[in-house]
Amino acid sequence: MEYVSLNNGVKMPKVGYGVFQVAGEECERCVLDALDVGYRAIDTAQSYGNEAAVGSALHKSGLARDEVFLTTKIWMSNASYEKARASIDKSLRNLQTDYIDLMLIHQPFGDYYGAYRAMEEAYRAGKLRAIGVSNFYPDRLIDLCQFAEMTPAVNQVETHVYQQQKTAHEYMKKYGVQHEAWGPFAEGKKNCFTNPVLVGIGEKYAKSAAQVALRFLIQSDVVVIPKSTHKDRMAQNLDIFNFTLTEEDIDAIRALDEGQSLFFNHYDPATVEMLTNMGKTRIV
Ligand code: NAP
Repeated sequence: MEYVSLNNGVKMPKVGYGVFQVAGEECERCVLDALDVGYRAIDTAQSYGNEAAVGSALHKSGLARDEVFLTTKIWMSNASYEKARASIDKSLRNLQTDYIDLMLIHQPFGDYYGAYRAMEEAYRAGKLRAIGVSNFYPDRLIDLCQFAEMTPAVNQVETHVYQQQKTAHEYMKKYGVQHEAWGPFAEGKKNCFTNPVLVGIGEKYAKSAAQVALRFLIQSDVVVIPKSTHKDRMAQNLDIFNFTLTEEDIDAIRALDEGQSLFFNHYDPATVEMLTNMGKTRIV
């Protein structure tokens, strides 16, 4: 495994395993499989409803706590100082641990400044090793970097070959925030796994389109957390440290960038209404 160093010196694996839309026993089985094939980072969230399954799998794996980098996220319904504070302790209980490696603000809505202060406090208390944000577009990220006491260590945003986040990446670099990709395969949209450019490049290295897509991201200094419920694909998605894309390969993949979201755009008022309604109705 290769690692990035976050802005507080904490080391984070460049590839982790994401558990969005994987519930209960299936989640526990998947995390055990992922750990078995060699993942040492797991990405969950309060809103995924599977923190307890992740905690249970970690416990059953027999791995030492410090061998696995655990990320979770504070949901919008906990976006205030008091609620976030209580929710951090609840996440710790769910995950069966006394510290979380990285805690993120899931969405830049509600009183996320209050939630961020609760994370800063938990960081100082040793409950969190690093804190950061998710879905913070450059305007929100710059605001937080300018006014919060601690600069976020990570910003997890939609990033894949069709939405490469070039401008956002430059601002993350400027402020010392590690860029992390969610949806590194765009959840398979736009035939990501059969894209002819990715397949063609993969043929040169005996790698799949999926592996090329992930390799492109880690060579672009982006941490990835692909999700698969299939153990062979989990292993495939981790097997990306034994080849290197050339500048020519990278230029060809850069040309796939459409520069816009395939899911939702936080600058669109209708999307903001939809997401904030989720924050009010999905209470965790
Ligand atoms: P993703 O990783 O882009 O794509 C997952 C899809 O790709 C699944 O349908 C999976 O199918 C398929 N797949 C995986 N590896 C494959 C391979 N080698 N060949 C062919 N198909 C493959 O989507 P995601 O789960 O949305 O994103 C990854 C993680 O990012 C999530 O699990 C979550 O932890 C995080 N996330 C965060 C946010 C946020 O707001 N912060 C939002 C979305 C996601 P199978 O499972 O059937 O293999």
